Amino acid sequence: MKNYMFLAILISISAAIFFGAFFPKEMITISWIGQLFINLLKMIVLPLIFSALVSAITSLGGAKKISSIGIYTFGYVMLSVSLAVIIGLILLNVFKPGIGIPPSLIMANAKPAEVTPMLFSSYMLSLFPPNIVAAAARYEIMPIVFFSIVFALACLSVGKSANPLIDFFVGLRDTLIKMITWLMYLTPIGLFSLLGTAVAQAAVEHLLLKSLGSMLLFIAIFLCGLLLQILWQLILIAWLVKLSPMEFIKTTGNAMLTAFATSSSMATLPVTLLVAKKQNVNDEIARFVLPLATTINLAGTAMYEAVSALFFCQVLGFDLSIPAQIGVFITAILAGMGATGIPEGGLVTMVMVLRSVNVPASAIGLLLPFDRILDRFRTMTNVFGDLCCAVTVNHLQKKKR
Ligand code: ASP
Repeated sequence: MKNYMFLAILISISAAIFFGAFFPKEMITISWIGQLFINLLKMIVLPLIFSALVSAITSLGGAKKISSIGIYTFGYVMLSVSLAVIIGLILLNVFKPGIGIPPSLIMANAKPAEVTPMLFSSYMLSLFPPNIVAAAARYEIMPIVFFSIVFALACLSVGKSANPLIDFFVGLRDTLIKMITWLMYLTPIGLFSLLGTAVAQAAVEHLLLKSLGSMLLFIAIFLCGLLLQILWQLILIAWLVKLSPMEFIKTTGNAMLTAFATSSSMATLPVTLLVAKKQNVNDEIARFVLPLATTINLAGTAMYEAVSALFFCQVLGFDLSIPAQIGVFITAILAGMGATGIPEGGLVTMVMVLRSVNVPASAIGLLLPFDRILDRFRTMTNVFGDLCCAVTVNHLQKKKR
C-alpha cells in the first residue's frame, strides 16, 4: 500500500504540474476539491488536539504520578521543541526565503479578504474566550489547547473516578489517528487540486520558475535547521552523558532508517525501544520516556510549522513584529507537542499555527508537493530527539540514585 501511495503522489504531482501549466483555467475551476481536502483535515483538528493532549498529559500520572522521570522528560521536550522553533525562526529571519514569491501562489486557494495581520492584544484575548464551545464552533484552536491542558491536569488531581474519562480520550485519540490514516489516502487528489491550482495561477502570471527557485531555498533552509537540531543534541549528549557522538549515531541507525521509511515516529516506536536498549537505557525508563516523547517531542515538526508560518507571512508581505513572532513561537511549540507521530501528522496542526498569524489554511497547498519528502526528514529528527531524550533522562535518573 505504501508503494502504491508513493506512486500515486508522484502521478498526482506530475499531473498537477502538467494540467496547471497547460490547462490553467480548467484547473482553477476545480480548486474547490483542494479546499475540500483542507476542510477534512480541519474537521479532525479539534477532537484530535483535545484527545492527544489529554491522553499524553494524563499518561504522566499513570506511571507513579508525575515522578522525576516525567519532569525530566517534560524538561527535555520543552528544551528541544523550543530550541527547534528558535533555530527555525532565526534561519527564516536571516535568509527570508519567502521574499520574492508572488502572494498569488497562496491566494490562488484563498479569499483575499481572509488575510489581515492580527494584533497581539486581540490575539491574547482570543486565547481566553468566555465560552469554550462557542470558540470551538468558531474554529479557534488555541483556547482548546489551553483548555485541554488544564482539563488533563484536573483529571490527574481527581484521581480514580476520572479514569474512565482518561480511557475514553485514549480511545478517541486512537480512533482519530485511524481516520487520519484513511484521510491520507486522499492526499493524491487533494494534492492534485491544491498544487494544480497554484501552478495554474503561476502559469497565468508566468511566475512558476521564479517561485520554484524560492521554494528550493526554503527547503534547503529547513533541512539545515533540522541538521542544527540534531547537532546540538549530539553535543549535549557528548558533554552531559559522555557518549561518543559517532557511537551514538551508529546505534540510532535502525531507528533513523525506519523513521525515514515509514514517515511515522509512532510506527518507529518498537524499533526506537530496541535502539534505546542498545544504548543501555534502563528498560523501565525507556518504556515510560519513549512513548511519551514520541507523543509530545515532535521538535522537527514544530520547526516545520514555525518556518512555514513565517515563510507564508513573508510571501504575503506581512510585517512580522516581535509579538507576532512570539505568537508563532508559542503556537508552533504547542502544535509540535500536540501533533501526532504519523505520516503528515504535522499538516493537521499546522492549520493552528497558520491561524495564529491569520494565514489562510489553504496556503499549505504550496508545501504539499514537497511535504512527503520533508516529512521523512522531520520524522527522523523527531525520532533522533526521542532517543536523545531517553538517554539524557536515563543519565540524570542514574545520577540521582
Ligand atoms: N510524520 C511526523 C512524525 O511521525 C509528523 C509530521 O511532522 O508530520 O514524526
